[in-house]
Amino acid sequence: MVIGPADHNLVRQINSALILDRLLADSPQSRANLAQQTGLNRSTISSLVSDLIARHLIREVGLEAADSRGRPGMLLELNPNGGCVVGIEINVEHITVILTDFTARTLWHRHVALPDGSPQAEVLCLAEDLIDEALRAGMAHHLTPLGIGLGVPGLVDVTDGALVYAPNLTWHDVPFREMWGHKFGVPLYVENDGNVAALGEYYFGVAKGYNHFVFLGTGVGLSGGLMLDGHIYRGVGGYAGEIGHIIVESGGELCACGRRGCWETLVGPRAVIRGIVHALKNGAPSLIPDLVGGDLGRITMDVVVGAANRGDQLARDTLADIALHLGTGIANLVNLFNPELVVLGGSLTLAGPYLVPPISRIIAAESLSLPGNMVALSLSSLGAEACVKGAVALVIDGIVRDPIS
Ligand SMILES: [Zn+2]
Repeated sequence: MVIGPADHNLVRQINSALILDRLLADSPQSRANLAQQTGLNRSTISSLVSDLIARHLIREVGLEAADSRGRPGMLLELNPNGGCVVGIEINVEHITVILTDFTARTLWHRHVALPDGSPQAEVLCLAEDLIDEALRAGMAHHLTPLGIGLGVPGLVDVTDGALVYAPNLTWHDVPFREMWGHKFGVPLYVENDGNVAALGEYYFGVAKGYNHFVFLGTGVGLSGGLMLDGHIYRGVGGYAGEIGHIIVESGGELCACGRRGCWETLVGPRAVIRGIVHALKNGAPSLIPDLVGGDLGRITMDVVVGAANRGDQLARDTLADIALHLGTGIANLVNLFNPELVVLGGSLTLAGPYLVPPISRIIAAESLSLPGNMVALSLSSLGAEACVKGAVALVIDGIVRDPIS
């Protein structure tokens, strides 16, 4: 078979991606080490490394310790000065924007809380201002912008970079890449917030090194991300992973998506808080009203966990209920995907001590024994930063997987 120039380029691209991927997982490393890990020969590695150094994506950082067998090799790592990346999370309650270098070290950070029911146009305007500020911060660091990564809570057409529908924001058809790709003049990557958070955990968090895991996180609803065989699983249209909208109770509570009985209506913070308010109005004794100065509109998951920590029975019963519903759903996911890890993120992390022991027991009791014995349960190590760090990972992942184009 004759290999044409197009195939040759593709092979170089795939092999460059392998090198960047290894350095992202573990730095610094010598060329010899990279050859061993990737299975590529030494001359191919040398040629690709020279290209990547010329593009400022990796750099030499000194000699490795000499071993008894010969000359020490020059160590390589990702080059922090390879450029800067903007990560942005738009959610119902806040916008968070960070600017990082190419190694994902945060250089600049903004978090703006959004008032309830903020109009879409205002939120988008604010987001644009924050991205502008972030890019200016990058210029002040003399870093070229490599891309903007955006995580949004809804169905995303990743090919067009457009949000199709976000039930909790009640937004339809927002063509982010069309609006912002030209405006900011850098590649824009858009993805569902659950997938983005899963990617954040994979590159920078508790799921580093795990190629088969499920991420579950709560913001306002319940978001999910599936990492299968080292790739985010998106399905045929890119809409896979909507774990929060698995129907678990036919004819149950109305969900923001318009259907009834979705999993998030049982375990999402909105549902949990609604249940607590209902119980309080029916006279359930609790510390919670005192903790919010009598204003039940101020109850958040932090408040519920704080009350549980002080021994409040209503809060503890509520969290036990969430654990039960989460545990059963997770046991089903374990049977379906045979993951090695399930990560709980968002406000679920705060409630970890009340959730992890009962959920682990339920997984052991309700999933099939073979996949059930292979799975671990972990709390996110990135917490509230999982989505925005994941948005940065989305850009770096895009470059790592496609470094030549
Ligand atoms: Zn739903």
